[in-house]
Amino acid sequence: RTIYLNGSWMPEGEAKISPFDRGFLMSDGIYEVTCVLDGKLVEYEGHAARLQRSARALDLNLPVDEAELLVLHREIVARNGLEQGMIYLQLTRGAADRDFIFPPMDTPSTLFMFTQAKDVLGNPAAEAGISVVTVPDLRWGRRDIKTVQLLYPSMAKMEAKAKGADDAWMVEDGVVTEASSATAHIVSADDRLITRDLSHALLPGITRASVLELAAAHGITVEERAFTVEEAQAAREAFITSATNFVIPVTSIDGARIADGKPGPLTQVLRALYVDTRRAAAI
Ligand code: PLP
Repeated sequence: RTIYLNGSWMPEGEAKISPFDRGFLMSDGIYEVTCVLDGKLVEYEGHAARLQRSARALDLNLPVDEAELLVLHREIVARNGLEQGMIYLQLTRGAADRDFIFPPMDTPSTLFMFTQAKDVLGNPAAEAGISVVTVPDLRWGRRDIKTVQLLYPSMAKMEAKAKGADDAWMVEDGVVTEASSATAHIVSADDRLITRDLSHALLPGITRASVLELAAAHGITVEERAFTVEEAQAAREAFITSATNFVIPVTSIDGARIADGKPGPLTQVLRALYVDTRRAAAI
């Protein structure tokens, strides 16, 4: 692969990042994942806007302007001939002597991007659905910022795997916050789409926003509020959303089947609507 690092393009094996980079030492960095379909960027504007928001929230200096950022995204797709998959972008506070105090603002930040091919359209989970187990949400209190602190979500996924499940849903104060790397949604018995309201507790998913908009346009009542594990287990449908998963049905939670244990019909409609409209709008 050809990667981008601090203004240069290079084969991935030639990239060098200092061991003093605060991304390694302090998890002092943010990231974004943008899906690529047909060699085009899916929901680019949303991901670019969230990157700016995360950077502002942590006083991180994004060394490229809006126009350059789009050029870089397009160029990394072209240089790698990527048709389907994702672009990963990471921005950290750069390298400095190890200190809890941030280095001066003029310390060069570290910005890199790479691509990863993935058959996102042919994901078998879209047809089969996934099983999830619940775990306590032990992450920090600013989950609305997309930081590189992914140790706990990684542990949650390992726990799910050890239990024979596909993913973990995280629970705090008796209610679901989100999946380990996706937004959690349920469909109630009276066909309302229920998803957690935005706050510092969860990431404002770009796919979430689109799916809520599509559901409302489709005549579905959307309720943004917290829900319990018990409510989710008794729901008519459950699903997750994320940039590279789009919409994936959840068919069991902690061993309890959701309805008949098959992917829900509204979930499938929303996936099809999402893929069709966002693929057509990709840039
Ligand atoms: N929640 C968490 C914790 C995530 O890591 C992600 C990332 O994929 C999401 C939600 C979904 O966000 P998006 O739809 O912007 O990919």
